Amino acid sequence: MTNIAIDGPAGAGKSTIAKKVAKALSFIYVDTGAMYRAMALYLYRNGIAADDADKIAAACGGAAISIEYRDGEQVVLLGEENVNPYLRTQEVSAMASRSSAVPQVRTRLVQLQQELAASQNVVMDGRDIGTVVLPNAQVKIYLTASVEVRAKRRFLELTEKGESAVLEEIAAEIADRDHRDMTREVSPLKQAEDAVLVDTSDMTIDEVTQRILDIVKEKTGIVQAHNN
Ligand code: C5P
Repeated sequence: MTNIAIDGPAGAGKSTIAKKVAKALSFIYVDTGAMYRAMALYLYRNGIAADDADKIAAACGGAAISIEYRDGEQVVLLGEENVNPYLRTQEVSAMASRSSAVPQVRTRLVQLQQELAASQNVVMDGRDIGTVVLPNAQVKIYLTASVEVRAKRRFLELTEKGESAVLEEIAAEIADRDHRDMTREVSPLKQAEDAVLVDTSDMTIDEVTQRILDIVKEKTGIVQAHNN
Protein backbone atom coordinates (compact mmCIF):
# COMPACT_ATOMS: atom_id res chain seq x y z
CA MET A 1 0.00 0.00 0.00
CA THR A 2 1.10 3.57 -0.57
CA ASN A 3 0.65 5.88 2.40
CA ILE A 4 0.94 9.67 2.31
CA ALA A 5 1.15 11.42 5.68
CA ILE A 6 0.28 15.09 6.02
CA ASP A 7 0.85 16.74 9.39
CA GLY A 8 0.79 20.30 10.59
CA PRO A 9 -0.90 22.80 12.89
CA ALA A 10 -4.57 23.76 12.86
CA GLY A 11 -5.53 25.95 9.92
CA ALA A 12 -2.57 25.19 7.66
CA GLY A 13 -5.00 23.84 5.05
CA LYS A 14 -4.33 20.14 5.67
CA SER A 15 -7.81 18.79 5.07
CA THR A 16 -8.50 20.89 1.96
CA ILE A 17 -5.17 19.91 0.44
CA ALA A 18 -5.25 16.27 1.56
CA LYS A 19 -8.71 15.85 0.00
CA LYS A 20 -7.53 17.26 -3.32
CA VAL A 21 -4.36 15.17 -3.35
CA ALA A 22 -6.38 12.03 -2.53
CA LYS A 23 -8.83 12.75 -5.33
CA ALA A 24 -6.08 13.41 -7.84
CA LEU A 25 -4.40 10.09 -6.99
CA SER A 26 -7.62 8.08 -6.44
CA PHE A 27 -6.52 7.39 -2.86
CA ILE A 28 -8.75 7.33 0.22
CA TYR A 29 -8.63 10.46 2.35
CA VAL A 30 -8.49 9.79 6.10
CA ASP A 31 -9.21 12.77 8.35
CA THR A 32 -7.84 11.71 11.76
CA GLY A 33 -8.91 14.99 13.40
CA ALA A 34 -12.52 13.93 12.78
CA MET A 35 -11.87 10.74 14.78
CA TYR A 36 -10.56 12.76 17.75
CA ARG A 37 -13.58 15.01 17.37
CA ALA A 38 -15.97 12.02 17.38
CA MET A 39 -14.32 10.78 20.57
CA ALA A 40 -14.71 14.28 22.04
CA LEU A 41 -18.40 14.31 21.10
CA TYR A 42 -18.88 10.97 22.85
CA LEU A 43 -17.18 12.29 26.01
CA TYR A 44 -19.14 15.53 25.87
CA ARG A 45 -22.45 13.69 25.52
CA ASN A 46 -21.52 11.61 28.53
CA GLY A 47 -21.05 14.72 30.63
CA ILE A 48 -17.32 14.29 31.12
CA ALA A 49 -15.31 17.44 31.80
CA ALA A 50 -12.55 18.30 29.31
CA ASP A 51 -9.97 18.62 32.08
CA ASP A 52 -10.81 15.32 33.80
CA ALA A 53 -8.11 13.11 32.28
CA ASP A 54 -8.89 10.16 34.58
CA LYS A 55 -12.55 10.04 33.59
CA ILE A 56 -11.64 10.48 29.92
CA ALA A 57 -9.19 7.58 30.18
CA ALA A 58 -11.83 5.40 31.84
CA ALA A 59 -14.66 6.33 29.47
CA CYS A 60 -12.96 6.39 26.07
CA GLY A 61 -13.08 2.60 25.72
CA GLY A 62 -16.86 2.82 25.44
CA ALA A 63 -16.84 4.87 22.23
CA ALA A 64 -17.57 2.66 19.22
CA ILE A 65 -15.95 4.80 16.53
CA SER A 66 -15.71 3.59 12.94
CA ILE A 67 -15.21 5.10 9.51
CA GLU A 68 -17.13 4.58 6.31
CA TYR A 69 -16.94 6.16 2.90
CA ARG A 70 -20.17 7.34 1.30
CA ASP A 71 -19.90 8.96 -2.15
CA GLY A 72 -16.18 9.40 -1.52
CA GLU A 73 -16.78 11.36 1.71
CA GLN A 74 -15.49 10.15 5.05
CA VAL A 75 -18.37 9.47 7.44
CA VAL A 76 -17.53 9.00 11.12
CA LEU A 77 -19.88 6.70 12.98
CA LEU A 78 -20.45 6.57 16.73
CA GLY A 79 -22.13 3.21 17.01
CA GLU A 80 -24.56 3.36 14.07
CA GLU A 81 -24.94 7.14 14.08
CA ASN A 82 -23.35 9.41 11.47
CA VAL A 83 -21.92 12.15 13.68
CA ASN A 84 -20.30 14.28 10.93
CA PRO A 85 -22.78 17.16 11.47
CA TYR A 86 -21.75 17.54 15.13
CA LEU A 87 -17.97 17.50 14.85
CA ARG A 88 -17.21 21.17 14.15
CA THR A 89 -18.90 22.91 17.09
CA GLN A 90 -16.94 25.03 19.53
CA GLU A 91 -17.63 22.58 22.40
CA VAL A 92 -16.36 19.59 20.45
CA SER A 93 -13.27 21.48 19.20
CA ALA A 94 -12.37 22.50 22.74
CA MET A 95 -12.93 18.98 24.11
CA ALA A 96 -10.97 17.36 21.23
CA SER A 97 -7.98 19.57 21.81
CA ARG A 98 -7.81 18.36 25.43
CA SER A 99 -9.01 14.76 25.22
CA SER A 100 -6.57 14.04 22.37
CA ALA A 101 -3.75 14.46 24.90
CA VAL A 102 -4.98 11.46 26.92
CA PRO A 103 -2.85 8.38 26.06
CA GLN A 104 -5.77 5.91 26.16
CA VAL A 105 -7.64 7.99 23.58
CA ARG A 106 -4.64 8.01 21.26
CA THR A 107 -3.95 4.29 21.58
CA ARG A 108 -7.45 3.42 20.40
CA LEU A 109 -7.56 5.86 17.50
CA VAL A 110 -4.03 5.20 16.29
CA GLN A 111 -4.86 1.50 16.01
CA LEU A 112 -7.91 2.28 13.90
CA GLN A 113 -5.85 4.59 11.68
CA GLN A 114 -3.13 1.98 11.19
CA GLU A 115 -5.72 -0.61 10.20
CA LEU A 116 -7.17 1.75 7.58
CA ALA A 117 -3.75 2.48 6.09
CA ALA A 118 -2.73 -1.19 6.00
CA SER A 119 -5.57 -2.15 3.70
CA GLN A 120 -5.71 0.73 1.21
CA ASN A 121 -3.79 3.58 -0.38
CA VAL A 122 -4.38 6.58 1.86
CA VAL A 123 -3.69 10.25 2.25
CA MET A 124 -3.96 10.69 6.01
CA ASP A 125 -3.81 14.02 7.77
CA GLY A 126 -3.32 14.86 11.43
CA ARG A 127 -0.61 15.83 13.88
CA ASP A 128 1.35 12.62 14.46
CA ILE A 129 0.85 10.68 11.24
CA GLY A 130 4.45 10.84 9.97
CA THR A 131 5.96 10.48 13.44
CA VAL A 132 3.78 7.86 15.17
CA VAL A 133 0.88 6.46 13.13
CA LEU A 134 2.62 5.73 9.83
CA PRO A 135 6.36 6.01 10.46
CA ASN A 136 7.00 4.07 7.23
CA ALA A 137 4.80 6.24 5.00
CA GLN A 138 6.41 6.63 1.58
CA VAL A 139 5.62 10.36 1.53
CA LYS A 140 5.57 12.68 4.53
CA ILE A 141 4.58 16.32 4.30
CA TYR A 142 4.66 18.90 7.08
CA LEU A 143 2.24 21.64 6.10
CA THR A 144 2.41 24.93 7.89
CA ALA A 145 1.67 28.66 7.61
CA SER A 146 2.17 31.64 9.87
CA VAL A 147 -0.33 32.19 12.71
CA GLU A 148 -1.40 35.47 11.03
CA VAL A 149 -2.18 33.80 7.71
CA ARG A 150 -4.01 30.89 9.36
CA ALA A 151 -6.10 33.27 11.46
CA LYS A 152 -6.97 35.34 8.40
CA ARG A 153 -8.09 32.25 6.48
CA ARG A 154 -10.31 31.11 9.34
CA PHE A 155 -11.69 34.64 9.74
CA LEU A 156 -12.66 34.77 6.05
CA GLU A 157 -14.20 31.30 6.23
CA LEU A 158 -16.41 32.38 9.16
CA THR A 159 -17.39 35.80 7.85
CA GLU A 160 -18.21 34.35 4.42
CA LYS A 161 -20.66 32.05 6.21
CA GLY A 162 -22.19 35.15 7.81
CA GLU A 163 -20.82 34.36 11.27
CA SER A 164 -19.30 37.10 13.34
CA ALA A 165 -15.62 36.78 14.19
CA VAL A 166 -12.79 38.80 15.67
CA LEU A 167 -9.44 38.31 13.96
CA GLU A 168 -7.36 38.82 17.10
CA GLU A 169 -9.43 36.29 19.03
CA ILE A 170 -9.03 33.70 16.30
CA ALA A 171 -5.27 34.30 16.19
CA ALA A 172 -5.06 33.84 19.96
CA GLU A 173 -7.08 30.59 19.79
CA ILE A 174 -4.84 29.23 17.03
CA ALA A 175 -1.69 30.11 18.95
CA ASP A 176 -3.19 28.41 22.01
CA ARG A 177 -4.02 25.21 20.12
CA ASP A 178 -0.57 25.15 18.53
CA HIS A 179 0.95 25.40 21.96
CA ARG A 180 -1.19 22.55 23.36
CA ASP A 181 -0.54 20.33 20.31
CA MET A 182 3.21 20.95 20.35
CA THR A 183 3.86 20.64 24.07
CA ARG A 184 1.69 17.68 25.06
CA GLU A 185 3.54 14.68 26.38
CA VAL A 186 2.08 12.03 24.08
CA SER A 187 2.65 12.40 20.33
CA PRO A 188 3.25 16.14 20.22
CA LEU A 189 2.93 17.89 16.89
CA LYS A 190 6.36 18.03 15.27
CA GLN A 191 7.88 17.63 11.86
CA ALA A 192 9.14 14.09 11.20
CA GLU A 193 12.83 14.02 10.30
CA ASP A 194 12.05 12.71 6.84
CA ALA A 195 9.07 14.99 6.17
CA VAL A 196 9.14 17.67 3.49
CA LEU A 197 8.24 21.11 4.86
CA VAL A 198 5.71 23.07 2.82
CA ASP A 199 4.94 26.59 4.05
CA THR A 200 1.61 27.59 2.53
CA SER A 201 1.60 31.21 3.78
CA ASP A 202 2.10 32.63 0.29
CA MET A 203 0.70 29.79 -1.80
CA THR A 204 -2.72 29.16 -3.32
CA ILE A 205 -4.56 25.89 -2.72
CA ASP A 206 -3.81 24.75 -6.26
CA GLU A 207 -0.12 25.57 -5.90
CA VAL A 208 0.13 23.57 -2.67
CA THR A 209 -1.73 20.61 -4.20
CA GLN A 210 0.58 20.62 -7.21
CA ARG A 211 3.67 20.85 -5.02
CA ILE A 212 2.57 17.80 -3.06
CA LEU A 213 1.72 15.85 -6.22
CA ASP A 214 5.24 16.67 -7.48
CA ILE A 215 6.74 15.36 -4.23
CA VAL A 216 4.62 12.18 -4.49
CA LYS A 217 5.81 11.65 -8.05
CA GLU A 218 9.42 12.18 -7.06
CA LYS A 219 9.24 9.78 -4.09
CA THR A 220 6.98 7.05 -5.46
CA GLY A 221 6.73 7.49 -9.22
CA ILE A 222 2.94 7.68 -8.85
CA VAL A 223 1.33 10.31 -11.03
CA GLN A 224 -2.04 11.99 -10.93
CA ALA A 225 -4.93 9.78 -12.03
CA HIS A 226 -7.53 12.56 -12.17
CA ASN A 227 -7.46 16.16 -13.22
CA ASN A 228 -9.43 18.10 -10.63
O1 C5P B 1 -7.43 18.64 12.76
P1 C5P B 1 -8.57 18.90 13.70
O2 C5P B 1 -8.66 20.33 14.14
O3 C5P B 1 -9.88 18.40 13.19
O4 C5P B 1 -8.24 18.04 15.00
C1 C5P B 1 -9.06 18.07 16.14
C2 C5P B 1 -8.21 17.86 17.40
O5 C5P B 1 -7.66 16.56 17.42
C3 C5P B 1 -7.03 18.83 17.49
O6 C5P B 1 -7.20 19.65 18.61
C4 C5P B 1 -5.79 17.98 17.66
O7 C5P B 1 -5.15 18.27 18.87
C5 C5P B 1 -6.30 16.56 17.72
N1 C5P B 1 -5.60 15.68 16.79
C6 C5P B 1 -4.57 14.92 17.27
N2 C5P B 1 -3.94 14.03 16.46
C7 C5P B 1 -4.32 13.88 15.17
C8 C5P B 1 -5.37 14.66 14.65
C9 C5P B 1 -5.99 15.56 15.49
O8 C5P B 1 -4.21 15.04 18.43
N3 C5P B 1 -3.69 12.97 14.41
